[in-house]
Amino acid sequence: MRVSKIDKIAVPRLLRELSAIFKTHGKQVFLVGGAVRDMLRGTQHIDWDLASSARPEEIMRIFPNVIPTGIKHGTVTIRYKKHSIEVTTYRKDGDYVDGRHPDSIEYAAGIEDDLSRRDFTMNAIAAELPGGHIIDPYHGRMDIENEFIRCVGKAADRLNEDGLRALRALRFASQLNFDIDNELLHAIQNNPEMIIPVSMERVRLEFDKIIASGRPSTALLYMEKCGLMQLILPELMRCRGVEQKGYHRFDVLTHCLLACDYAARNKYKQSVRLAALFHDAGKPETAKPGASDVWTFYNHEIVSADITRAIMTRLRYSNASIDATVHLVKEHMFNYDDVWSESAVRRFVRRAGEENLQDLFDLRRADSFGMTGFEAPLDLLFDFQDRIKSTLAKSRALSLKDLAVNGNDLMRTGIPCGKRMGFILRRLLEAVLDDPELNTKEKLLEIAIAGGDSQSMMST
Ligand code: ATP
Ligand code: MG
Repeated sequence: MRVSKIDKIAVPRLLRELSAIFKTHGKQVFLVGGAVRDMLRGTQHIDWDLASSARPEEIMRIFPNVIPTGIKHGTVTIRYKKHSIEVTTYRKDGDYVDGRHPDSIEYAAGIEDDLSRRDFTMNAIAAELPGGHIIDPYHGRMDIENEFIRCVGKAADRLNEDGLRALRALRFASQLNFDIDNELLHAIQNNPEMIIPVSMERVRLEFDKIIASGRPSTALLYMEKCGLMQLILPELMRCRGVEQKGYHRFDVLTHCLLACDYAARNKYKQSVRLAALFHDAGKPETAKPGASDVWTFYNHEIVSADITRAIMTRLRYSNASIDATVHLVKEHMFNYDDVWSESAVRRFVRRAGEENLQDLFDLRRADSFGMTGFEAPLDLLFDFQDRIKSTLAKSRALSLKDLAVNGNDLMRTGIPCGKRMGFILRRLLEAVLDDPELNTKEKLLEIAIAGGDSQSMMST
């Protein structure tokens, strides 16, 4: 067991200046939470959380630019030299009536009391300002040194107060690569239902941090083990044990977790990471025995896309991020080979969207890693990228707006506005996708007059 010798941190100048202002008004202030934890770990933390003896209204009198960001919880944000610093008055939370939020806030007398309400020992360390001397009543430094997540006090009681702490513990395990203390793990396992009353918005924030971490599978496997996956992501739980002999080494859940880890390791976008996690969620539903002991999963990408939409809607993601992820899931099964015609390549780009191609290729890399757990050479993917480049260099006409004619041009030839015009424009686009040379005003008007059918026009 290693014990940390650090009893002082180097306080940035900005915080020393701020604390001097608090001091001239007779107020104490400490740096707390993730910033202290991360400084002790030797890593950067982007935001500063302070705890102070000053009440919110006093802070608003002391500083000229203060925003009451969480006044109900005793929190305000000081704007100082272009920085935002959250300050929370020492708190001693009241009873948690429903496992969601404290029933009332009670201000605490001093920093020790304030630290006692915090979730984990590593998050219950304060650094006195301006000197940076450490106050660590729960041996958080020792737990940081030993890479260990442990509750302040009795785990079962602390989780009963706020069920979100269970998910926070797993999130920190993924982010910091720390182990979870057995007492805490058992407390979650014994009562995973504690998460049920927690609002979906709070669950989502933690889930996002898991997905953004370097290794989401750490938290997700803990979620499975503790029963939280069954409650929060039952659709993924159903993928456990779904074998895919013939294609993959792993069952569907392990495959998805490996794909998601690969996406995280390569710092792919959030939508790609989520798509990697959910892209095969439709396999349990579509699995059918095929020839010679091999399972088939026809159209699983369509079912997976529906399931992804349902999960992300339940987790209250924005429509834009739902649409982006669902689109990737739906399109993840493209199967390029060099016999594809140019028009097939153009049609693929039109359907996938040029702006999504990089994400789809990233997803394919993650998917392919998830099949074996090894980085496979993806020559065909490189060929496909080259092919798309050369095909688009010849013609970028992929949608109605790229056509050399528009509705007005067609109206002038006597085609009335309405359904028929829509039909003809779509036929013109199909003709141009097959043969980009047709994309001139003259040729397209000729086809339009012939009824929108390039074949019948050519043969007359
Ligand atoms: P990060 O900012 O990287 O997510 P953090 O530790 O700063 O990590 P926050 O969610 O910003 O986490 O919370 C700041 C601090 O507030 C925590 O370090 C912890 O001391 C306390 N805290 C936050 N949420 C809870 C909770 N649900 N129960 C008890 N204490 C909490
Ligand atoms: Mg924080």
